[in-house]
Amino acid sequence: MQEFDTPVVDDHLHLDPDHGRGLEAVKDFARSGGTHLLVVNKPSWLLGHEVETGADFRPVFETTVEVVREATELLPGRAWPVLGVHPGLVSKLVDDRGFDPEAARDLMCAGLDTAAEFVREGDALALKSGRPHYEVTDAVWEASNAVLRRGLDLAADCDCALQLHTESTTDLSDVAEWADERGVPGERVVKHYAQGHLTGGTPSVMSDKDRLEDAAERGDPFLMETDFIDDPDRPGAVMGPKTVPRRVDWLLDEGRDDAVRNAHVETPALVYGVDTEATLDR
Ligand SMILES: [Zn+2]
Repeated sequence: MQEFDTPVVDDHLHLDPDHGRGLEAVKDFARSGGTHLLVVNKPSWLLGHEVETGADFRPVFETTVEVVREATELLPGRAWPVLGVHPGLVSKLVDDRGFDPEAARDLMCAGLDTAAEFVREGDALALKSGRPHYEVTDAVWEASNAVLRRGLDLAADCDCALQLHTESTTDLSDVAEWADERGVPGERVVKHYAQGHLTGGTPSVMSDKDRLEDAAERGDPFLMETDFIDDPDRPGAVMGPKTVPRRVDWLLDEGRDDAVRNAHVETPALVYGVDTEATLDR
């Protein structure tokens, strides 16, 4: 049982109690010194839901809320749900189910509206949206950006952060501008799967050493994540749940205490308004 003198937060991972490792992954995280988790709902289609309406997302979100409740019992800190609609859904709808891009947009916006209800009720910490990371038609790109902007509307309305899944880039200036127009503070736009730096938001940095070194060196606000997908069909496709604690260990060995405080105390407070020290019961 590893223990650090600091909270240790994984800013983005998934837990699939029915098909994956679920709470066993949480135990691994906690045993390695991890304290807090932001658990993002799995894409609706991976849980076998063929959504037709915004309300159809509700069981997907409830699965996450439930596993977060159980995970919190196992953690010295706690877990929080991050709920939203995976941007890849647009292609499932358009390519596999014959939706036109506008209808796909409307369904995805309705899913985000449902996610926002959880945030308003205090059952989720933040929202999740984005746009495809692969080539799409102009119409699908436009529809996806409209969904992303709805995510920003809702983040403004709910006074919460918005995690984004986007194309691979270190420049989200266009999104930052949309956030600004809506009065969403720039730091509340979080790019998941990020490099060590980002223009136009807060990077949630994938926890490999090169990216973390970059983030630590710059000293700007950043978070750390694994994007553990908890998918038994793709073992080893992503980082495991022990990765963030291990990288914290490494950062501390390197004398990067400031970076650890940045990613695990200061930036979670700045972005999500959470106090990772006060929620630590040791
Ligand atoms: Zn993810």
